[in-house]
Amino acid sequence: MIFWKINTQIEKNGYLCSRKETETMKKPAIIVPEGCKEVLLHACCAPCSSAIVEWLVQHDIRPTIFYYNPNIFPVEEYEIRKQESKRHAEGLGITWIDGDYNHEQWRQDVCGLEGEPERGRRCEQCFTLRLTVAARKAKELGIRYFTTTLASSRWKSLEQIERAGHLAEQTINGISQKGQSPLCDSVTFWAQNWRKGGLYERRNQLLKEFDFYNQQYCGCEYSFRQKNISTKD
Ligand code: SF4
Repeated sequence: MIFWKINTQIEKNGYLCSRKETETMKKPAIIVPEGCKEVLLHACCAPCSSAIVEWLVQHDIRPTIFYYNPNIFPVEEYEIRKQESKRHAEGLGITWIDGDYNHEQWRQDVCGLEGEPERGRRCEQCFTLRLTVAARKAKELGIRYFTTTLASSRWKSLEQIERAGHLAEQTINGISQKGQSPLCDSVTFWAQNWRKGGLYERRNQLLKEFDFYNQQYCGCEYSFRQKNISTKD
């Protein structure tokens, strides 16, 4: 059912490459880690998840969506984004997991970096915090690979996201699981530029098709203030 729905959408939008185009492609834009049949997808919001989820399902990779974004402020904004992500996943019959929301803890974890600009040190710390929890969740669930929709945004630094993902992977793999029996021995960050392969354009199509709420700032109060300042300029 999921596959049928997604295939129909893809064909309708002319998203599939023709055979000739496929043959002339030298290197695939999206490289699947060997043996990957399942992935934990850390999702920042529904619009950024949509084309990635579609692509994964189309390529026989089962996504589990993990919504973990304690950075979002205020809580009303957090709830809107969360409900949109849930609506998207449930509509496609995809497993959706709600992470905790503790914004005060997040503020403490980025303390001293409040004045940093977007793409600065606060953002890298924010990515590391979120991806470390995503890596832990993947390990708990026995899903070897994890990746993030953060790497679909042209406003974010892919280098920072990649560093954060690998740091999260190392942190979680380095933690001994005393008293626990993890379902997989280690997790691996799937570092992928999710704007590639036409996914950025497809994201914008799906945003309209699903009529998703489209946020106007990254998420935290600092990005909200920066956006308002630049709007007034
Ligand atoms: S601007 Fe975005 S990525 Fe950077 S700290 Fe704020 S919420 Fe996190």
